[in-house]
Amino acid sequence: MIPFLDLERIHRPLEVEIMDSIKRVVESNRFILGEEVEQFEAEFARYCNTDYCVAVGSGLDALHLILRAYGIGVGDEVIVPSNTFIATALAVSYAGATPVFVEPNEFTYNINVSLVEAKITPKTKAIIPVHLYGQPADMEPLLDLANRYNLKIIEDAAQAHGAIYKGHKVGSLGDAAGFSFYPGKNLGAFGDGGAVCSNDEELITRLKMFRNYGSQYKYVHEKKGFNSRMDEIQAAVLRIKLKYLDAWNDQRRNIAEQYAKRLKDVDIIIPAVLPDTIPVWHLYVVRHQKRDALQQYLRRNGIETLIHYPIPIHMQLAYKECDYLKDSFYLTQSMADSILSLPMYPGLGMEEIETVVRAIRNFSE
Ligand SMILES: *Cc1c(COP(=O)(O)O)cnc(C)c1O
Repeated sequence: MIPFLDLERIHRPLEVEIMDSIKRVVESNRFILGEEVEQFEAEFARYCNTDYCVAVGSGLDALHLILRAYGIGVGDEVIVPSNTFIATALAVSYAGATPVFVEPNEFTYNINVSLVEAKITPKTKAIIPVHLYGQPADMEPLLDLANRYNLKIIEDAAQAHGAIYKGHKVGSLGDAAGFSFYPGKNLGAFGDGGAVCSNDEELITRLKMFRNYGSQYKYVHEKKGFNSRMDEIQAAVLRIKLKYLDAWNDQRRNIAEQYAKRLKDVDIIIPAVLPDTIPVWHLYVVRHQKRDALQQYLRRNGIETLIHYPIPIHMQLAYKECDYLKDSFYLTQSMADSILSLPMYPGLGMEEIETVVRAIRNFSE
């Protein structure tokens, strides 16, 4: 059996180190907004090459609070990719603004930058490029549009900790970035967690208020804020895991290289990489016309795969007001119907990769 993701293999070698750090927090009796969170914020800002980092409760909250802190809300529009995880759009909806969807490039899976300008209206306030599956979105054309139309660029880096675009870490490319530390992400906590990275000092001050009941000074509330704070135990775990992130991302790149090399002559579409970028392969997503049959075949052969994501956001009941898009978002739908995520994680062995590849070959022949 080859599981889709096996966190055991990632955590087992760090068990002592991590348990010690959790014990340290328990013994300190300080569980919210203490030393660990402060240290993690400094370390993650340094990792992303930004001036600031604010740790929050989740990736969704990170994006939502950035929008709030920029004053984006009712009556405003925010451009998002149509093929992302629903959280990108929900962050916009939470803020009271309207997500405006743009279709992807079918080879990199990231937002098709040539379709963005046509979606800009006088109401547009921001673009949220998603570095989907760990591959940097094409930021330069988006930054150029943002300049010309005076828009904020808010990176959704929830799947791309450590990825590099033209020499710059993702999270440092736009006005602000949201990260997720959901356990399955490239850098994952032992529960929920998220962070905002930015060089914008004013934004960071407002964000710190918004995550903590709208308060900068205890029991003085300037805003009707939220409760969205990373807890000390998550921060302690993340501080340990951050030290290993680059080595893990290297392993993911090796696995991706193996998949690409061994699947290139098979009747299957493998992901294209944008020039001058270094992806971190949160997911390795291939496409096949007979996706459902392939997935079943792999399952029968003991290989677990998943689909990210089977139903586009505009086709979800939660966004039924967008269902009129179904006829014009043909590519988004056809990709949702053909994508398949192969096992991809640090610790996945060479023989296991070979087993996956052989099974896909057998199916295709
Ligand atoms: C995981 C994810 C989020 C949300 O992160 P949570 O921590 O689960 O709230 C947002 N955007 C994308 C692209 C994600 O993959």
